[in-house]
Amino acid sequence: MNRRRFIGSSGLLAAGLWLFPKDLLAQAPSPVIAILNGAKTAKIQVTKLRGGISMLEGSGGNVAVLNGPQGKLLVDAGIGLSKVNMAAALQSLGPQPIKYLINTHHHFDHTFGNEWLHRAGATIIAQETTLNHLQHTVQIKDWNYTFPPAPRAAWPTVVFKDEKVLHFNGEAIEMKRYKPAHTDCDISVYFPKADVLHAADTFWNGYYPMIDYSTGGSIGGMITAAQRNIEITTPKTIIIPGHGPVGNRAQLIEYHDMLVAVRDKVAALKKQGKSLQEVYAAAPTAKYDQKWASFLLTGKFFSYLAYEGV
Ligand SMILES: [Zn+2]
Repeated sequence: MNRRRFIGSSGLLAAGLWLFPKDLLAQAPSPVIAILNGAKTAKIQVTKLRGGISMLEGSGGNVAVLNGPQGKLLVDAGIGLSKVNMAAALQSLGPQPIKYLINTHHHFDHTFGNEWLHRAGATIIAQETTLNHLQHTVQIKDWNYTFPPAPRAAWPTVVFKDEKVLHFNGEAIEMKRYKPAHTDCDISVYFPKADVLHAADTFWNGYYPMIDYSTGGSIGGMITAAQRNIEITTPKTIIIPGHGPVGNRAQLIEYHDMLVAVRDKVAALKKQGKSLQEVYAAAPTAKYDQKWASFLLTGKFFSYLAYEGV
């Protein structure tokens, strides 16, 4: 799929709308509401990757599915309002039952599908801070939205602190926590046999990333996470980003270099005493906007996120 078509797809629209801070959204209600509305009719695109692993795009963040004789394992849940289309997409991979769901972090576009998937048979696994966020009210000021605690059926019941290995369908699936990056509970999920990595929302393939400062994210943390992703992959590794099309290591390196360049430019301006408005006027992302900005995830928005963290 080419870039223009992808930007126009309901999936990215759904994934992207909520990425705008309140002050850039003017009078609009919370973008979360628009995302939830979009999720009801979102089409789910299924891409088969390797070793029984597929990627499902269209409902919030990218979902990975490992299917095999023991059943299905999902990495991230999408949004529950997409249940009908998600269930059909899962069924299209085969009749095997849903056994596991791993959450890469707590954000709603990765966990709002937890409840129905648990009721459909999934044991939910996550880093322990993800569970903590799902158990409590989380207010995210930039989204102008307060998330109530998730229903009990949506809570992960198997949690870990730093890392965990799960043997399933012949894979030894490696879950490993990042240092705070996009949030404070991001994990990578790696399938060694298939050589497929789900990099959570530490990697946005072809888009400026969202960084959630209200739960521990930072631009520096995102760069450190991108470095780790580069270190643990090879040119053969298939990399599933949190948002955007299926990627590879070369794209990951390009993304990392963009993060570093923008961070350095914004940090230099801030060090000179420039205000946020002056940073906007200096357009520190100008060189990168053609490749990385979309109509919602703009260079201005990313400048704002970088400014907050330097
Ligand atoms: Zn996220």
